[in-house]
Formats: sequence, structure tokens, C-alpha cells
Amino acid sequence: MPVLRIDGKTFATKVPVLVVGAGACGTIAALAANERGAEVLILERDAKPTGNTSLSGGQIPAAGTKLQRAAGLMDDTPDLLYQDILAKSHGECDHDIARHIANEAGKTVEWLVDRYQLPLSCVLDFQYPGHSRPHMHASPSRFGAELHSVLVAAVEKEGIPIATQAHVTDLYADAGGRILGVRVKRPDGALEEIGCDVLILACNGFGGNKEMLKKHIPEAVDLFYEGHVGNQGDAVCWGEELGASVKDIGSFQGHGAVCSPHGMHLGWATVTEGGFHVNKDGKRFSNENAGYSEQALKVHRQPGNVAWAIWDERCEKIANQQHSHMEANESGAIRRFDAIAPMAKAIGCDAKALEETFAEVAAATRGEKQDAFGRNFGNKPVLQPPYYVSKIMGALTHTQGGLEIDKEARVLRKDGTPFPNLFAGGGAARGLSGPADWGYLSGSGLMMATNTGRLAGEAAAALVRKG
Ligand SMILES: Cc1cc2nc3c(=O)[nH]c(=O)nc-3n(C[C@H](O)[C@H](O)[C@H](O)COP(=O)(O)OP(=O)(O)OC[C@H]3O[C@@H](n4cnc5c(N)ncnc54)[C@H](O)[C@@H]3O)c2cc1C
Repeated sequence: MPVLRIDGKTFATKVPVLVVGAGACGTIAALAANERGAEVLILERDAKPTGNTSLSGGQIPAAGTKLQRAAGLMDDTPDLLYQDILAKSHGECDHDIARHIANEAGKTVEWLVDRYQLPLSCVLDFQYPGHSRPHMHASPSRFGAELHSVLVAAVEKEGIPIATQAHVTDLYADAGGRILGVRVKRPDGALEEIGCDVLILACNGFGGNKEMLKKHIPEAVDLFYEGHVGNQGDAVCWGEELGASVKDIGSFQGHGAVCSPHGMHLGWATVTEGGFHVNKDGKRFSNENAGYSEQALKVHRQPGNVAWAIWDERCEKIANQQHSHMEANESGAIRRFDAIAPMAKAIGCDAKALEETFAEVAAATRGEKQDAFGRNFGNKPVLQPPYYVSKIMGALTHTQGGLEIDKEARVLRKDGTPFPNLFAGGGAARGLSGPADWGYLSGSGLMMATNTGRLAGEAAAALVRKG
């Protein structure tokens, strides 16, 4: 993935704004730049754009939106969203970027709904850990593919070309760090060169690249990878070669309840509504409700690298609104039991041990005793039969480190100054999670992708206009 330094290089084909990647960030950047009159071309490696965006739960946090107000939620504010990001990341994210994204999120969601008919509504029946208000906006299926297909259709309707099967392998830059263009590899091995005035990197992180994981996040190498294999870390590699500032490179979002071996994750209402996780001995091992990201390594560190999630009918009704949970049901990854003893048999643990765990959880849920792992079960009802069980493993969802950007999504050099015409967003940019797996606030992935996409597209168009 080299950066080729050739001052004065010219190109037979040149576009004002070039976008690498057709996920949420790339499509939204293209729409925003196009709206402001810039000519845009998107280059996408896959034959059909999917990316992490299509794999995701499609839930986007925003605060103070008219959708929330229409649903009767009057007291959410960008400041509350900002405080939630800060609290989850222990204050170790970029505060200015977090504040800016929290402020912009409502505008981005409303713009996407009003202008491009993104089918979003508020998620009011379920609140993710760390969300002080129901910030989530989701499509009816709660599945990213639904949102992504609307975005790709909007791009096509606007007449913005997406060149698919166009794998960007190299960048051309001059000695001052100005991007001149890119080199593209086609499936038959043919190489093409395309020049640009502005380049937007929307090609996500390095979750699909084992070598980069070994180097930067060794603890995540053996986790099941539930993201898009095409996330090979190209943006970070180019950025490093250019001398960009790369931050929080050891950070990632995991998921602590991915069905084993099926590979789709359970709705997290299986935990937030009062469910819990046990290991092969029928014993709990963590505060499951701290967050699904940090739960990934806790599950992975259990004997056999697996655990079992247990919940009840009430939790099931809420969780089963989420596409991935429905898929888990359809694939037979979830089993239903009327009593604890047959459930223990299915897990392979001692029935008495599992009954004791149930009794401890019930006592903590009723507030009769402190939970051994410090979990606050809130005022959820005690689990009632029938119970639901799934064998689970810890997963890596996406990496959170990346290129440091400013409020316009311009990529910054190590000295803090921006490159003249290089932008990055979504998973290519540094996330909002701080340095580790515990800092991911649910929904930060799409919140970054949608907002930095819009900000990068707007700023790129302004730059092209200025000349
Ligand atoms: C299972 C799962 C569930 C998730 N659920 C949620 C959720 O509910 N809410 C949330 O906020 N986040 C969620 N996320 C995270 C979220 O999906 C991502 O943060 C977000 O989609 C990133 O968008 P993006 O545009 O940056 O990247 P992507 O959507 O991955 O798009 C990047 C595109 O770049 C292309 N590409 C890569 N390299 C090149 C190259 N060299 N040349 C050309 N093209 C290239 C890829 O093929 C891909 O199409 C989830 C992720 C997963 C995996």
C-alpha cells in the first residue's frame, strides 16, 4: 500500500472529489459534496458495496432530534450525548471531536431522513449501556443493510458514479503531502490511475488484517471477527507513510455475545433486561452489563473460549426485534427451556451450580444482596421460565484507532497541521472510544461514519470551490 511521491504527476482521468469506500461514510460524504456542487467519484473494492455498514445493527445515536420529540422524548440534548461519550471512554477520547460529533449528530440524522428518506425512527423500548437517554435512531429491521441500500440508491439517484471492483492500492502525493491521485487495481490485474483535487478516505479500519492486529491489538487476534473482511487498514497504512498522526491504534469494539459457532450476535437486551452469562461450570464471571465491547475478552478468557448467555421470554421479545438476533433464532443458535435442570444438561454443567447462580442473580436483582461482580441489575424483574440459552464467544467487531482528524474531517499531521487536501472519516479515522476495548459507546461506529462523512463531504466541496 505505498504512497508514491511524484511531484507534478499528471493523470489522463481526474475528478475533483475522490472517495475511497462506499460504506456509510463514503456514500454520505459523496452525497454531501454533490449537494454543494462538487463532482464526485466513489471507488469501491467490492462488486457490491456492503462493508461493515451492511453488517451492522444500523442504530445511529443522535440527540435532540425532531424524531425524538415526535416520539415524546423531550429531554435529550447534544450535551447529554457528549457526556455519555466522555463517560464511556473515561474521558480519554478527543474531547473537541466528541463534542462536535455530538452537536452535529441531530443535524445529520434529520438531513438523511428529510433529504434522502433514510427510514429512521427512535428506539424507545431499549436503552444501551452508557446511554443516559434513548439516543438510538434505527430502521424498522434494525439492520444496517436496510440503511446502506437506501444510501447507495440515493447516490445512484443523484447520478454520483460508484466504480465497483476498484481496489485502491496506492496513493500519489507530492513532497508537501498534497494528494495527487490514486492507483486502482481491477480484478483482472489491470492498473488504472485517477487524479483528484481532494481525496476522502472512507475505507474503514484494520479488523480484517491479522498482521496489523498482531502488531497493534494482539489480544484481539484470536477473537472471532464479525466485521467485513475488506477492512484491511489501508487508510492507516497510507497515513503512516504520509506522516499523519495515528491515534488509539490499540482500541477496538468487541462483542461479548456472538453465537458459537454460528457467528451472529444476540440482541444486547438479553443482558440489559436482566440476563447473564455463565461459563462451562454454570458460574458467572463478570459484570455483563459494563458493555458488550469489553465483554468480548471476558468471554474469550473462559475455558474453551466460550460461555453461555441466559435470558427469559420478556428479554427475548425485546432482543428479537434486532435482525442479528432473529438470524440467531432462525439458525437454531438459541434454545428454550422450561426449567433450569435441562438447561444445565445442555450447557454440560452441574444443575445445582446453575441453580445457585440463578438464585444469586435473583437476589441481586431484587436488591437483597450486592452483586459479586458489582453489577446493578436496576429494577428489572427476576428472570422467569421459559428461559433462553445460547452458547457464545467473544468477537472483534471493528477497530477504533485511526487517522487523527479535525472538525472538518481533515487528516492531521503529527505536528497538528492538516494535510492540504486529505480527509478521512468513519472507521478510517480515530474513533471516540479512547485507547482500549472498554471505551466504545454503543452506536459510536455509525455516529462517526455518518457525521464525519457529511463533514468531510461538505469541507471537500468547499475546498474544490476555492480552487
Ligand atoms: C456486526 C456489526 C454490527 C454493528 N452494529 C452497529 C450499530 O448498530 N451501530 C453503530 O453505530 N455501529 C455498528 N457497527 C459499526 C459500524 O458498522 C461501522 O462503524 C460503520 O459501518 C463504518 O462505516 P464506514 O463507512 O467507515 O466503513 P464500511 O461500511 O466498512 O465501508 C468501507 C468500504 O470501503 C471499502 N474499501 C476498503 N478498502 C478499500 C480500498 N483499498 N479500495 C476501495 N475500497 C475499499 C470496503 O469494501 C467497504 O465497502 C457494527 C459493526 C458490525 C461489524
